[in-house]
Amino acid sequence: MEQRTEPAKAYDPKEVEQRWYRRWEESGVFHAEPDSTKAPFVIAMPPPNITGRAHLGHGSTYTTQDILVRFHRMLGENAVWIPGLDHAAIATQAVLDRELAKEGKTRHDLGRERFLERARAWKDEYGGIIDQQFRLLGFGPDWARERYTMDPALSAAVAKVFVELYREGLIYRGNRLVNWCPTCASTLSDAEVEHEERDGTLWYIRYPLGDGSGEIIVATTRPETMLGDTAVAVHPDDERYRALVGKQVLLPLQERPIPIVADAAVEREFGTGAVKVTPAHDPTDYEIGVRHGLAMPSVIGLDAKMTAEAGAAYQGLDRDQARQRVVADLQARGLLVRTETLHHAVATCSRCGTVIEPLLSLQWFVTMEPLAKPALEALRDGRLRFVPERHGRTYAQWLEHIRDWNISRQVWWGHRLPVWYTPQGDVIVAESEDEAKRVALERHGTAELTRDEDTLDTWFSSGLWPFSILGWPKQTPELAAWYPTQVLVTAQEIIFLWVARMVMLGMHFVDPERPPFRDVLITPLVFDQQGRKMSKSLGNSIDPLDLIEKYGADATRMGIVRQMHLESQELRFSESRCEESRNFNNKIWNAARYVLALEAPAETGLPAPEQRTLADRWILTRLGETVESVTAAYHAYEFSTAAERLWKFLWNEYCDWYLEATKLPSPGRAAVLTTVLDVALRLLHPIEPFITEEIWQLLPQRRGDGASISRAPWPQASELARDDAAAARFERLVEVIVALRRLRADAGIPARELPQASLAHVDLDAEESALVERLARVRLVAPAPAGGTGLLTEHVGDVELALRAGADAAAREAGRLQAEERRLIGEVERLEQKLANASFALKAPPAIVQKEREKLAGYAEELQRTRQRLTEILK
Ligand SMILES: [Zn+2]
Repeated sequence: MEQRTEPAKAYDPKEVEQRWYRRWEESGVFHAEPDSTKAPFVIAMPPPNITGRAHLGHGSTYTTQDILVRFHRMLGENAVWIPGLDHAAIATQAVLDRELAKEGKTRHDLGRERFLERARAWKDEYGGIIDQQFRLLGFGPDWARERYTMDPALSAAVAKVFVELYREGLIYRGNRLVNWCPTCASTLSDAEVEHEERDGTLWYIRYPLGDGSGEIIVATTRPETMLGDTAVAVHPDDERYRALVGKQVLLPLQERPIPIVADAAVEREFGTGAVKVTPAHDPTDYEIGVRHGLAMPSVIGLDAKMTAEAGAAYQGLDRDQARQRVVADLQARGLLVRTETLHHAVATCSRCGTVIEPLLSLQWFVTMEPLAKPALEALRDGRLRFVPERHGRTYAQWLEHIRDWNISRQVWWGHRLPVWYTPQGDVIVAESEDEAKRVALERHGTAELTRDEDTLDTWFSSGLWPFSILGWPKQTPELAAWYPTQVLVTAQEIIFLWVARMVMLGMHFVDPERPPFRDVLITPLVFDQQGRKMSKSLGNSIDPLDLIEKYGADATRMGIVRQMHLESQELRFSESRCEESRNFNNKIWNAARYVLALEAPAETGLPAPEQRTLADRWILTRLGETVESVTAAYHAYEFSTAAERLWKFLWNEYCDWYLEATKLPSPGRAAVLTTVLDVALRLLHPIEPFITEEIWQLLPQRRGDGASISRAPWPQASELARDDAAAARFERLVEVIVALRRLRADAGIPARELPQASLAHVDLDAEESALVERLARVRLVAPAPAGGTGLLTEHVGDVELALRAGADAAAREAGRLQAEERRLIGEVERLEQKLANASFALKAPPAIVQKEREKLAGYAEELQRTRQRLTEILK
């Protein structure tokens, strides 16, 4: 690798980051081959949509993965991060539909084949943008292993899983109630439906009994669906209606007799306790319909317009117009009793916001219960672990109440169902068209087939992700070495949609004992400072690429990681953390320049213990502790803890104290400085890959060996000699120095002056005295300077400090203290009067009175201290 030996004066993240990313990629540092002699560490990257762009959520979820893989690679494991892209059926089709709309066309004008060609071309042109953005963020997956959900091999895995589930009887086709979005013109999974709280109306409608003996009043929020009612239901224990069960009512407007049935699903407290049953347009009614064998006429069609079944008066109206017409007609006939306003949840499409229409439709389903059982057991016996643990309950609750999965979608972009129909109406499910033809020839003597028009739910292919990317169903070396993976890192909103399905399918098809990952790490959602979701419409979204432009990728990553606390699942993002991190990087850069400008150490190893200064022994001890705590934090996914520890170590301990201490030259200082920097850079590398590599390459130990820090061994605390007694001694000196600096500052002593100071009750050796003099900028004298004007004193534990401030400085300090005294007297008087005021004492809440009393006590104490110092300085 070409080397630069002199560090640039100012750190330029843009130049450094581009240069290193290119070299890493060219030299293959992210690439791995399966190696069974090492422990595997594998992360399957959640494939972003081909329509995706990097956002701050990637900053938290994907930076985490990059940190983990870099960390485990340095631990010497067979670490690999496998990237990919998801074809994102509905999202991509929506983008293309919008493009076509601008040309005044719809996809139907193009036809299926031309539309798919266009989609593929779109993917080739724009599908990789997010990969480039990930490179800017410093993410280092094994790009050579990138997979796409519609790669031929992955599509073959999809077909195989479909066919096998079908043969096992776990995939079936049926007329079932589905969530239908009339705008997207497709079914949606339950997880793609949102429930919005809205104000609506509850209509009370009279249904006359068929025998003319009276009526039953039902309450509904959707009067238009009454055209498809096939029963009225009451709770079996409801005394009010017991006598009516089994009778008929005459459905108004349709004039059709329908039965009154008893069903435990009815909520007695809702409305009148009697509800209309529309099995084709409501999930609960559908279940009542199945239990009571009711007819299920569909009165609303796929276009959200009323069908012929709704009757000639309503056919063709859209559902909102139909509602108005039905209400008006009921009113005209005196069948509307009253209305109430009602706050209730309305199901809407998570993609376009349209109100969902539950519809009966001929769709394909997976029977989930047998698949859910092993997935639930894996969580219960600890083979699968959620971090934070509470997300495991969400996962379990969904699996315990699992419903069959509607997997067919009426979009064109996606995996087309491997299902063919013969002219006789026979269904042939096969892994390929050729195979389907062979079967058709055998069974019917014809190869004439029509393929099912539908495609599969996007989550069907991503549900196979952890093993399809390793070559399954082929028994590849990758599958043998890298399955199951170690950890999945993702966001909480796709625990059902994705995580649970990967566990179910992985345990069903690949390994019945082991889920496809041991840990599921759920990263926090990113919000703005006020706790609002970031969105374009609110104008509060932050583009990570803008942050990189301003602060560099390292500082962007560090800024995010420092705010990412494991237990809190909400990250209120503050850009100032990125700015601070840029300052942190500049601090490290300047420290490195200082270190590298020193005479090169004769030997690269540490000086012998007896040659180490007190400061050497202290920084090596602190380094050892840092190695331990940072390593433990990475293992525990406590990334902000690791970041904060490294921040404190590098900024405060290394730069502020140790570097200053080495300004008193010692024979081993260059070796200690570079050794400590080497170790700290390796610890920091997973979070800040670029600056650590740039500096590490400049260390004298490294010059010219061509290795990357990302493949350097992880530091071991045991390699570092710890000396706790020396560290404690150094830390007391630090306290003394801080106290002397404070005294200097209080007295306003200019930086160039070296006042006399003395320390009592402590024995300092020559090295320690020199350190105090150098870092506190004082001249130590013994014995204590005689009393008199301008003597400032302080205690640090047992140690007594005295600083001779000089007459001028003492006078300045006395003036400052007198002003402070006047201010404090004023505060004390004000509060005393307030508390003495009878009306305040009576009317104010006791907590406020108490607070004011505490304030007064505080001021009084401060006043006493100020007067004491004044006496000292004036004596
Ligand atoms: Zn929609």
